Amino acid sequence: MPNDTTQVNINSGGTAQNTYDAIVIGSGISGGWAAKELCDHGLKTLVLERGKDVVHIKGYPTATKNPWDFPHRGQMPLQVEQENPVVARCYAYSEASDHFFVKDKEHPYIQEKPFDWIRGYQVGGKSLLWARATQRWSKFDFMGPARDGYAVEWPITYEELAPWYSHVELFAGISGNKDGLETLPDGEFLPPWELNCAESDLLQKINANYKDRHAIIGRCAHLTQPKQIHLDQGRQQCQARTLCERGWPYGVYFSSNASTLPWAQKTGNMTLRPDSVVHSIIYDEKKGKASGVRVIDAKTKEATEYFAKIIFVNAACLNSNLVLLNSTSGRFPNGLGNDNGLLGKYIAFHNYRGTITATIEGFEDQYFYGRKPTGAMMPNFRNVYKQEMDFQRGYMVHFMGGRGRSYGNGNSEIGGEYKDGMTEPGSWGMFMMMQGETIPKETNHVRLSKDQKDPWGIPQLITSVSYDDNDEKVLKDFLTQGAEMMDRAGYKHINQNDSKQAPGLDIHEMGGVRMGKDPKTSLLNKWNQLHTCNNVFVTDGACMTSTSTQNPSLTFMAITARAANHAVEELKKGNI
Ligand SMILES: Cc1cc2nc3c(=O)[nH]c(=O)nc-3n(C[C@H](O)[C@H](O)[C@H](O)COP(=O)(O)OP(=O)(O)OC[C@H]3O[C@@H](n4cnc5c(N)ncnc54)[C@H](O)[C@@H]3O)c2cc1C
Repeated sequence: MPNDTTQVNINSGGTAQNTYDAIVIGSGISGGWAAKELCDHGLKTLVLERGKDVVHIKGYPTATKNPWDFPHRGQMPLQVEQENPVVARCYAYSEASDHFFVKDKEHPYIQEKPFDWIRGYQVGGKSLLWARATQRWSKFDFMGPARDGYAVEWPITYEELAPWYSHVELFAGISGNKDGLETLPDGEFLPPWELNCAESDLLQKINANYKDRHAIIGRCAHLTQPKQIHLDQGRQQCQARTLCERGWPYGVYFSSNASTLPWAQKTGNMTLRPDSVVHSIIYDEKKGKASGVRVIDAKTKEATEYFAKIIFVNAACLNSNLVLLNSTSGRFPNGLGNDNGLLGKYIAFHNYRGTITATIEGFEDQYFYGRKPTGAMMPNFRNVYKQEMDFQRGYMVHFMGGRGRSYGNGNSEIGGEYKDGMTEPGSWGMFMMMQGETIPKETNHVRLSKDQKDPWGIPQLITSVSYDDNDEKVLKDFLTQGAEMMDRAGYKHINQNDSKQAPGLDIHEMGGVRMGKDPKTSLLNKWNQLHTCNNVFVTDGACMTSTSTQNPSLTFMAITARAANHAVEELKKGNI
């Protein structure tokens, strides 16, 4: 019986022992924030994490290794890449970060259409791995669906979220410059990083050549100058190593492990339970609300139930969809809260297919110091104030300038001249990458397999998500405009590239349990409560109504903090 994961109605710990005020499913970026806020307000909170424990400082085995300390100097062997084609496509996956990425075979899913699902199953989730670009969304992003008529209207505005952006920024530590742009609102910033000469050059030229385009230094979750609140978390100033995906003992970049989780732990209110795979949420038909969760132990496969007054679902977008779809009951035969049949639908992501490179003449007498963790950014300039293109919405642009090695005169790949050349810096170059908004569509969906289960007895997820004509038009516009911006800047050897990568590799998946005003067309209300089961809150990417062109994680943090504070208020009032 302990290994029979189809029968999970076992409460091995006894109801009282397994009862908390709140349960948080997942300990990544959004789960960490839910835990911190709930614990700060005195709620006894159980954080359930399916992966292994990663304790800050102790849990980063490769953090201080040199390239020669790795058997393959950091490269993954070909065999491993061939066995794990999905994760191997992620730029951050290497011998140094291998231990924080999910391997394809260990956690199967079914790709009805190609979808690169990149996951980090451990305490801290993908917060250990992320690239830390942290922009606020603008009012235009929240207004987009209402104005353009795609997806449904957001039930919240930028103005409602702004104080919560400030709340999470001050604690997480975001570096940036106050640029005064309507399309990219300023936040509570630590000092910005400095652009190098190539990035400054392009930034000045774009700003001079185009009235509608404004490039700025990137905003990122790094402590350029820690404040007391960061020192209180035990975090230190960034040393610009850019080896973050290994984890870093000084806690210079924001991760759940360095920041929110140890903070929650210090309140004495958090119980963190790694190796706990949430199977489903238990619905109490008599009370008309959720009473707890069913958990399968990742190692022993033993089933246990835990109970709480409120449940935060933060397993990351697609896994939150999975947990809810798998939470069936007499009242909700198609998944928790799924009266309208829209659970798992309107999945969207970011279109990262377009990149452009170019070489820059000049600046030979200039170099840069350290490896700064951000380049420059240009917020979306298409369809902002009015619909003006033959596609919906638009794209932001990340760009990064750098200087390679010279490799001698380029005529040889061996010998003294080649070796001498390697000691000299080469020419400057520029790299541009698009981040396009995709339109949530009912056809882009995930659902559960009826016959295939994972090793924990949970139905496998089927992903059915693809690009559409709008994405092709957005890509074409970026490639044309990006090349023109480089050309007008005087750059040479401009090379446009369409990676044709599958959706998912952007690692910004959103939707499936979207927020909205109307229970007929959405799953969650403006406080992230399921319309039909109000003690369940979904505050990760699954809740997003649309995707904007900005990176999403700062918005997940702000939405989570806002929802957690609302949950506490409602609990006090006896409304849930
Ligand atoms: C290489 C890389 C670069 C990125 N760069 C950026 C960036 O620059 N900016 C940005 O905004 N975002 C970026 N992202 C995306 C960012 O990491 C995610 O948006 C963010 O981590 C999502 O937070 P989350 O809490 O929803 O999910 P996660 O951080 O993934 O946490 C989810 C947690 O839930 C756990 N879990 C899943 N299922 C269950 C279950 N059934 N039971 C119990 N636990 C479960 C997982 O193990 C995991 O720990 C990047 C991601 C990667 C990998």
